[in-house]
Amino acid sequence: MITVAPEHFAAQMAYLARAGYRTLGSQQLSAFLRGEPVPPKSVVLTFDDGYLDNWVYAHPVLQRHGFTALCFLVSSWPCEGEVRPNAGTSATELPRLLNHREGELAIDNGRVDEVILRWSEIDAMRAAGTFEFHSHTHTHIRWDQVTRSRDEKRTRLRDDLVAARKMLDERLGGVSDHLCWPQGYYDDDYREIALDAGFRHFYTCHAGANESDETRAENVGRSINRLEVRDRPAPWLASRLWVHTRPAISRAYLRIKR
Ligand SMILES: [Zn+2]
Repeated sequence: MITVAPEHFAAQMAYLARAGYRTLGSQQLSAFLRGEPVPPKSVVLTFDDGYLDNWVYAHPVLQRHGFTALCFLVSSWPCEGEVRPNAGTSATELPRLLNHREGELAIDNGRVDEVILRWSEIDAMRAAGTFEFHSHTHTHIRWDQVTRSRDEKRTRLRDDLVAARKMLDERLGGVSDHLCWPQGYYDDDYREIALDAGFRHFYTCHAGANESDETRAENVGRSINRLEVRDRPAPWLASRLWVHTRPAISRAYLRIKR
């Protein structure tokens, strides 16, 4: 449901370029949410978890179109090592990639380097301008599910977010206030602790477009809707963008879907 095959991804990106869409970075998104204008055909591309296929397949496609995407890293996962070949180079042999389920199993079994970006690849993507990197927590653990008390949940989440900030700060030379909730889960405690930790933009799994709101106070944070992109050819994406770039139609569509 949440993965896209390389050929569909390439077709979807080619459609965006052809249709005149531009991609926004996190700072442009933030400015838009505060009320600054952006071109009507603006999208933000996001990837969660930092999978190796973001480097092998997505990076060359984004580079071809001059697009930028946001990748939310689980900061305890990337390993050290050399940059592996990707589809944009003339390398004969690309890394073997696992499907999403196999990948999750590999991570659980300590074979994270087979499926997740290395720091060297992250650096290469940043240098090329194809990806920005933001936080998806340090561990991806759903603390609401594995702790026995509310206090424990709050403490573990706080430690997790502090560790995430420290790691990104050390490895990337800075950390943003954009945070993607693991599995889209958050509650009042999550929001409070994340705000406390310095995050202001919270990426959810709620469907829909995002509208600007200049009246909103900055220190309360802002939840960001996203569309789950299906493993479908470009016309699927075109139809969804047609719907969700029209706020009234988008709301009606989501109501019916629910
Ligand atoms: Zn995730």
